[in-house]
Amino acid sequence: MYVEVLVETKVKSNDMTFTYYVPNIFDNDLIGKRVLVPFGKRIIEGFVINYTHKPEGYDVKSVLKVIDEERVLNDELIELGKFISDKYLCPLIYSYQVMLPKALKANAKVTSGAKKLTYVKLNEELNKAEIKVREQLAIINLLKENKEVLKSSIKSKASLKKLIEKNIVIEYTKEVYRLFDEEKDEKKIILTQAQKEVSLAIQKRFKTNKVILLHGVTGSGKTEVYIDIVKSVIKRGMTAIMLVPEISLTPQINARFKGIFKGAVAILHSALSDGERHDEFRRINRGEVKVVIGARSAIFAPLKNIGIIIIDEEHSESYKQENNPRYNTLDIAVKRSETHNCPVLLGSATPTIESYARAKKGYYELLKLDKRVNEKPLPKVMIVDMKGEIRKGNTIISGVLREEIIKTLAKNEQVMLLINRRGYANYLSCKNCGFTFKCPNCDITLTYHKTSGMMRCHYCGYATKKVNVCPSCKAEALREVGGGTEKIEEFIKNEFPSSKVLRMDADTTSKKGSHFKIINDFNSGDYNILVGTQMISKGLNFPNVTLVGVINGDSSLNVPNFRSSENTFNLLDQVTGRAGRHDKEGKAIIQTFNPEHYSIVCAAKHDYEGFFNREMFIRKRLNYPPYCFITLIKISSKDFNYGINEAKKINVYLRDNLSKTTSILGPSMASVLKVNNVYNFQIILKYKKDDKLYKELKNIIKLYEANNKVKIEIDFNPISL
Ligand code: ADP
Ligand code: ZN
Repeated sequence: MYVEVLVETKVKSNDMTFTYYVPNIFDNDLIGKRVLVPFGKRIIEGFVINYTHKPEGYDVKSVLKVIDEERVLNDELIELGKFISDKYLCPLIYSYQVMLPKALKANAKVTSGAKKLTYVKLNEELNKAEIKVREQLAIINLLKENKEVLKSSIKSKASLKKLIEKNIVIEYTKEVYRLFDEEKDEKKIILTQAQKEVSLAIQKRFKTNKVILLHGVTGSGKTEVYIDIVKSVIKRGMTAIMLVPEISLTPQINARFKGIFKGAVAILHSALSDGERHDEFRRINRGEVKVVIGARSAIFAPLKNIGIIIIDEEHSESYKQENNPRYNTLDIAVKRSETHNCPVLLGSATPTIESYARAKKGYYELLKLDKRVNEKPLPKVMIVDMKGEIRKGNTIISGVLREEIIKTLAKNEQVMLLINRRGYANYLSCKNCGFTFKCPNCDITLTYHKTSGMMRCHYCGYATKKVNVCPSCKAEALREVGGGTEKIEEFIKNEFPSSKVLRMDADTTSKKGSHFKIINDFNSGDYNILVGTQMISKGLNFPNVTLVGVINGDSSLNVPNFRSSENTFNLLDQVTGRAGRHDKEGKAIIQTFNPEHYSIVCAAKHDYEGFFNREMFIRKRLNYPPYCFITLIKISSKDFNYGINEAKKINVYLRDNLSKTTSILGPSMASVLKVNNVYNFQIILKYKKDDKLYKELKNIIKLYEANNKVKIEIDFNPISL
């Protein structure tokens, strides 16, 4: 028997399959499995993607070993890989690699890791009539509804202790399977009329490959709608994928889904070890899982008979993969929905302009949830003009925000403060000569981190110790400019000495599990102020947060990107939506130097429609998506001159060969020219339709295939320019 094996070689060509002979000692069911093959002088791994016949005219080598017992790539994934490779012009092997968990090695070490947890349950033999204490009765009622409850989940510890002493409640421990040891949230929720209607409308589209956009304001209960839909998909014998931004894979969501779907759910979050991820992949592959929840890459979960694909917070940038293959999750979802004949459900309070435009044109079906579940109004948002505040000497927080923080703390409620930049000072600059510290590898200023006493590059990770003397003029005149989360944290601690402040940003969440810990600590009520970057804006649900303050509402506005207004609106609408999600009404304050900018004004009014109309007008005038498509050609080289020259040649080639209606902009320097000592240039293509595009882009890639002085990458529909 002969097989085609796909391997990764130095040459980044699309066609990296080679023919090998399969000795009889091996199993003859090899498609989708990995094998070890000799390749030149090396022995490498590859995927068997086809059977073939003995080639004419040359001898072939033999497969040395079959790595996998079970297929890792099923027929659908093999086809999907080809689709990705064609659509994003990337080598086929990359498509398969992006689909599979990292540790898909034949002998990945996985610990059994059984763990003991303490539970409590009612002692059925005893009469509980004599109990009169309210807290104790509440516990008894809880245990009547739930046969067993995790001991740690019961708040009133003293009452529980009494009940255990009286032998009314029994305490016991048991071993739990590692992957299901999280606390479960099994509360029963009855959908509101509005939620029911939306759910039914979606169920009507089962067995079609429609794309449905659910535009639901923050707190409108979209998650419960998803749960209802997934339940009914499972009831009909089908399976479901639900994608969320990585940041939303919080203990809150995990517990909710595990409480409902128990062992039938696989939650693929970044805190899983490679072994756990591999376990979950195999459970899915074997059909033991009905629901897969995860970030972007969960779209490749090898489920069979998919009944719905849900993409929550569909506007999130995390759905775009930023290295080869630079795929857009929605494209993959649509492709799989065609294969399985199932709908794709997009959900967001702030859909992307492109998605909303498609929904309005009727390409997508549009459904709405325009009220919060609790019938509470969306939080009242106040815009504060910081120009006036600076004159009054309030450089970091305005008078109003200070007052509101004091009031909120006095009521024993919680505050969230957004500052969309991590670190202490934005950067250090010399008062005397204006010198700033730049990364030696990248074209970017270093951010000052006070806790570690370091200046860091947020692009490549370069770090150096802070100094006190200006390296340029030798004056002792370095001052801190701008502020990040660390500075705000310090400032708030000084301003409100009685407050307990937590910080959530890339620096405090770098350790495994730390993200969850911060959320749990804040939820427990031991802290009353949470300072954070945009990490705090999405998916979190803290009942006691009644005030949200945005320290610098302009941070995402001053970015040279055609989506900067959209990103600003999204961020502000989402983060202000964190206030007042339960019984208490919420308030939010946005501090800005652009109090009249439409993205800020509309976000403050929670006016998505108004923002959309304004933004569409501007996109049309400037010819940006959705009025055209954009494709970016990235040209990078260690040699500045060589890079720019090749970029110019590509530009000339495209002008000669692409359709005349396509506009070709550039070549220009990328927004950050130098990253890690590599210079980046770009050519931007804007077009409505260009039949020659794929063919010509393929030609260019082929042309540079063997050139290792310059790297060419194509980014369709880039998230920033
Ligand atoms: P969204 O994702 O739309 O912002 P969530 O799904 O997080 O909103 O719901 C907001 C809050 O309302 C959550 O605490 C959720 O448990 C609660 N909730 C949702 N639907 C219901 C319902 N039908 N009855 C009671 N509470 C609900
Ligand atoms: Zn750097």
